[in-house]
Amino acid sequence: MPSALSYLLHLPVLSLWLIFFLENVIITAMVLFSGRLLHKAPYTYTAREWRICILTNILNTIVTYAGFWMWKNSIIHIATNISWMIVIDFLILFLAMDLLMFIFHYIIHKTFLFKAVHQLHHQSIDPSPIDLFVLHPIETIGFGSLWLILLTLYPFNIYAIITYLVVNVVFGLIGHLGIEPLPGRISNLPVIKYLGTSTFHHNHHQDVKYNFGFYTSIWDRLLKTYK
Ligand SMILES: [Zn+2]
Ligand SMILES: [Zn+2]
Repeated sequence: MPSALSYLLHLPVLSLWLIFFLENVIITAMVLFSGRLLHKAPYTYTAREWRICILTNILNTIVTYAGFWMWKNSIIHIATNISWMIVIDFLILFLAMDLLMFIFHYIIHKTFLFKAVHQLHHQSIDPSPIDLFVLHPIETIGFGSLWLILLTLYPFNIYAIITYLVVNVVFGLIGHLGIEPLPGRISNLPVIKYLGTSTFHHNHHQDVKYNFGFYTSIWDRLLKTYK
């Protein structure tokens, strides 16, 4: 991994933009393909949803490039050693982003920003996987900025960062599946009970007054907005 990172430093800028764009497109394709496999009945997406999805991919590419540029210019530091810190760093990233995104999401819902920005994502009352990318540009850049700001605070381990990014996409997919893949007996197990399941985010789309969390339901339970 350290050699892959330093390899990127020697590539021309245009190649980097292309690699980061392809990376985002592959992630999107994997989300849509996995959603199709899990749901069985195929989803149908409108031309408008596809257009917004492409725009989100372009904006996520800009966020990825910005992160690379910040790392290259020593604004973001990344640890590359293999140690127990990978687990600790992952947990910090997971819980910190969960809290930051909860605050961001809650504010968006309780202010003029809902109508101006977030309503677009909520046009889908029965979400499907593409809705993970049906976001207002301000939202995409907002989430991306929170992520990059968090990375500037501490030299997180690269393996923790990659694991977090994979987990983030998995939670995004699960929340917009439109079905609950977890049997009740598993979703009621300790720890898992506090994770953001498919039903948890689906209920947020059904009733916007509840479930503002993403990866966990901790903050909603504390603020009595859990459903
Ligand atoms: Zn919302
Ligand atoms: Zn959603």
